[in-house]
This record gives sequence, structure tokens and C-alpha cells, in this order.
Amino acid sequence: LFISFEGGDGTGKTTQIARLAEHLRAEGAEVVTTREPGGTELGREIRQALLHGEDLSPRTEALLYSADRAHHVATVIRPALDRGATVITDRFVDSSVAYQGSARELGIDEIRSLNDWAVGGLVPDLTFLLDLDPAVGAARLNREKDRLESAGDDFHRQVRQTFLEMAEAEPDRFVVIDASRSIDEIAADVRAGYERLR
Ligand code: C5P
Ligand code: MG
Repeated sequence: LFISFEGGDGTGKTTQIARLAEHLRAEGAEVVTTREPGGTELGREIRQALLHGEDLSPRTEALLYSADRAHHVATVIRPALDRGATVITDRFVDSSVAYQGSARELGIDEIRSLNDWAVGGLVPDLTFLLDLDPAVGAARLNREKDRLESAGDDFHRQVRQTFLEMAEAEPDRFVVIDASRSIDEIAADVRAGYERLR
């Protein structure tokens, strides 16, 4: 079973992934939690270049995200799925569609096909979209912002809008969750969304 969490910065993806993983492990499942960019050793080098390196052209940025993802799928996600584990990833292809395809204006269809190629067509069984006003998300990140988090408000509003449109287009895969509420309320909705699968 392959589950992704999507949403802007400060929407609580990391916290909710830990909660869902804990719940599934208590039920006896093998659960692998991972993240993008940076779910592998090579990925952490790519993440460093993306977030703290020199300025990158949008196409360079898109290719680095997809290279990180290709390696992540080949070395972490596929092997885990093949042995029957449940994999929960913090971001997947949808993030690139929203950030690089839409907000960076590289084209939604182009970025979708680049990444489908990079991951060999792997699609999550279930995607939780933690939806939140980006101004609220930014305020929750009480630390110094990285290069990409510091992009303008319009950029992050565009990302949110695109995520919502993708969710509307694929209602069987996406569960949209109002991430403005408490951790427990969100976790309850995530669990209900997961139960819906079974
Ligand atoms: O989710 P995480 O904090 O790991 O994301 C790192 C940064 O990269 C964030 O600022 C996020 O907005 C940005 N990002 C991006 N394009 C992606 C994925 C993340 O610009 N495809
Ligand atoms: Mg972040």
C-alpha cells in the first residue's frame, strides 16, 4: 500500500505521517515512512543543492526533484512495496506538478509526464492533501525559511490552488483535509480516510 501526504509548508504533514504510521504499526503492519526531497543519501545531496545551493533555473529545479524521486522510488519505495510494506511518503509527484508545473509555470502536463517517466508510472493508492491558507502555514514554521519557502505569497497560493484542482480531478485517490484544525482532529480525519480504503 502506497500513501502520500501533500500540501504546502507548515500544514503538518510530518506530524500526521508519524501519527498514521504509529496507528498502522499498532495494527501489525510494516510501515516505511519517507520524504522528498531527501529520502536517500543521494537525495539529501540533491535536497541540499535545491534548498541551500546557488540559484537554479526552473527546469534545473524540476529535473533535480525528479532525479531525487527516481532514485527514491528505485531504492526505497519499490523495494518496500515489493516486500509487502506500507509506504507513507511526505510529498510525491503531485508536489512537482503543483510547485514546478503550476507555480513555476513549467506546465502541468509536462511535469506530470516527466515524473511519471521518472517513477515508472507509480501512483499512490491514497493521497492526503492537507489544505491550509499558506499565510497560516508560513506562520507555523517558526524557524528560518529555506530558499523555496521564501518564495512569494502568490507562488504559495498558486500551489494550494493546483493541489485542490488535482484533488477535485481525482476524487478516488485524494482525501482533502482541513489542516487549520487541531492535530487530533486532523489525525481522526486521516484515519477515517484510510479506513475508507479497506
Ligand atoms: O516539504 P519540504 O519542507 O521537505 O520541502 C522543502 C521545500 O521545497 C519547501 O520549501 C517546499 O515548498 C519546496 N518544494 C518545491 N517543489 C517540490 C517539493 C517541495 O518547491 N516539488
Ligand atoms: Mg518544509
